Amino acid sequence: MLLTVALAIAPFAQASSAPEALPILRCGCDHHAPIDPVLMGQYLSGAPCGANFNIDDMIYDPANRPLYQIPIVFHLIGTDTTPSAVTQARIDDQMTVLNGAFQAAQIEFSVASVLQYNNSVWAQDIGDYWTSTTVDPSSNVNVYVVNQVAAPAGVIALGYVADFPFTPGFPGSPMDRIVVLDDTVGFNTLPASDPLARYDDGATLVHELGHYLGLYHTFETAFDAPICPTGGCACLNASATLTGDLIVDTQFSLQSGTCDTFGASACQAFVGTGFAPCASASTLASPCGTTPGAQQEWNNYMSYSSDSCVDRFSPEQIRRMHCTLDGYRPGITTAAGPVGVVSYCSVVNNSTGQFARLAATATSSTGILANNFELVGERLPALQTYLPLISRNQDFFPNFFPGSPGVLCLGGPFGRLNSQLGTADSNGLIDYSLDWSALPEGQGLVSAMVGEVWNTQVWFRDGAVSNTTEALQIPVR
Ligand SMILES: [Zn+2]
Repeated sequence: MLLTVALAIAPFAQASSAPEALPILRCGCDHHAPIDPVLMGQYLSGAPCGANFNIDDMIYDPANRPLYQIPIVFHLIGTDTTPSAVTQARIDDQMTVLNGAFQAAQIEFSVASVLQYNNSVWAQDIGDYWTSTTVDPSSNVNVYVVNQVAAPAGVIALGYVADFPFTPGFPGSPMDRIVVLDDTVGFNTLPASDPLARYDDGATLVHELGHYLGLYHTFETAFDAPICPTGGCACLNASATLTGDLIVDTQFSLQSGTCDTFGASACQAFVGTGFAPCASASTLASPCGTTPGAQQEWNNYMSYSSDSCVDRFSPEQIRRMHCTLDGYRPGITTAAGPVGVVSYCSVVNNSTGQFARLAATATSSTGILANNFELVGERLPALQTYLPLISRNQDFFPNFFPGSPGVLCLGGPFGRLNSQLGTADSNGLIDYSLDWSALPEGQGLVSAMVGEVWNTQVWFRDGAVSNTTEALQIPVR
């Protein structure tokens, strides 16, 4: 719908108008409405990411997560008479680029299928072609490869996402898709003399998948972004958390900031009003001077830098992508993990000022009974003793432990996992495991059976009192 609106406003750049001479934008995702931090806060407030834009939640750190495997359906759209120029070899190259880029995030993409169409209208990214062609968008990324991407007049766009995953009703809907220009798919497919050769190393789909997983541009609310009113956004949002992409560990960049080898033998980064050698670019100030985070993020996949420049998602970006997977795209991954584990029970803040969280991790696709997963907790007071508990039953007992604010979220009979007694680390993190063949229940030990549901929670000391984490419900499979 957003795309349709944009098209109604702006005519296409026509293929006949010597497109190589036109400015190139990494993506036409500015079809979406301007990002309003207040509105975005409302979107996010209902998500497990929380209302804070800065997702520093260690539960979303790949180190605490299984490998996430995400299938892609490629839709290759050629004209009425000519098939798409994208070959299987180029798709293979594209997958190599993707899986290299997302390796640090512990996200792995696979090709679910490659579908071919001959439709000259669709090939220009015109029409609601996705309604009749999408393949279960709740469990596949649908990537449409066209030979002209819808864009405002006078601009070549390389790709876009139709909307962001936190928009209510959007994820998993037929509109939920990525569109990319055929020239961007693969690796090093164009002659160096072609201006698009700056963008033929496969980074466009990496960038769009970043959007697909909840990331904004590093310049999203920055100085020269197109959402800014005439005259620019100045250097609004002095807080790094609220600046650029609203992620604290990425730099506040300019849309026009790029690191570029095009036409030059040495890598150059655009800083302020001109280019400087890349090696020093990260230390040069933007027009926003010393505003926190005001330096260029020219090597980030979510900037508009050309393909040879970009090689980085930041740790916070990676956590936001995992948060998006959990909160907005739970069906998109075949990740092998403890499927169906959910948190429950509203517990109270501890001395860290936050309540302690719990999550399950896994490292392979075998069932929970294989004991191959761990439970991790965070936001506990540092260096304090903890003891995991388990029960078949859920309940809610505020102030269960005399003189302490903790809530017991388990019903009796519950068991204490005495073998997992431990001490939170200096960051307030804990981990423990369960032996499903010997779970404490009352005074004895029992084996869990497939089909049963068990619940776990952690009691911990907090100075003179004690407290509890939230609880997890774990279906045994
Ligand atoms: Zn983009």
